[in-house]
Amino acid sequence: MAAINLLEQLHLHLEALRAAGVLFVPRSQIAPVRFAPQPVVAPVEVLAQAHPVEVRRRELDVLAQEVAACGTCDELFSTRLTTVFGAGPLNAEVMFVGDAPGSDEDAQGQPFVGPGGLLLGRIVAACGFTRDRVYLMNVIKCRPPRNRAPSTAECVNCRDFFQRQFELVKPKHVVALGHFVSKLLAQQNAPLSQLRGTVHQYRGAPLICTHHPDDIDDDKTGRLKRETWDDMKLLLTTMGREVPKPS
Ligand code: SF4
Repeated sequence: MAAINLLEQLHLHLEALRAAGVLFVPRSQIAPVRFAPQPVVAPVEVLAQAHPVEVRRRELDVLAQEVAACGTCDELFSTRLTTVFGAGPLNAEVMFVGDAPGSDEDAQGQPFVGPGGLLLGRIVAACGFTRDRVYLMNVIKCRPPRNRAPSTAECVNCRDFFQRQFELVKPKHVVALGHFVSKLLAQQNAPLSQLRGTVHQYRGAPLICTHHPDDIDDDKTGRLKRETWDDMKLLLTTMGREVPKPS
């Protein structure tokens, strides 16, 4: 819309010049045009007519731009390559939540694209979901240096983004990946072994706590993998879905 207006204005300007007897404009006198960033806000009357899902999608886009411009956490802002917002459909059947982006995610700007993400993709597939039917995101949007755990202050700084994103996506079920996120979303200061095996609630959605795929990858005993599958069976049962037979 902005580009059309600009072309119309340019056309009118050239018409006015021609009417005044100016037949050409020397190239050297044409200053480079710099476009100021346009706010991605639809006119009120357009938004009012839009489907509620479409309105939420647009609000999510605006939120992603706010995140991309955020520099609240000094250290993360100065060391990150990019922000990692999240990916997946609105009204996702399941939202998987990790703690923070790692190096692969930081480089690509996408959640769960490193080795742990590939394992998560296999877990999702084993449950009978495709990856594009689930929503993937982290509690904080910038990679902590050396993959350290996010600090309390960083979680507080990013909490509003996380909660607004959650409300806009409106997932039907939530899976917390790892002890850090499980404690945060279940709002209980307990070991993961105690948080697993119970259906908690997060903002009205059933919440299952399980291991983080990076931890499963590091565990050579296979115990975390078996426990994660138990947690996924609890998720599927909670969703009223059949548990697939192991292949
Ligand atoms: S972690 Fe969140 S609050 Fe901190 S700089 Fe990144 S986007 Fe902003």
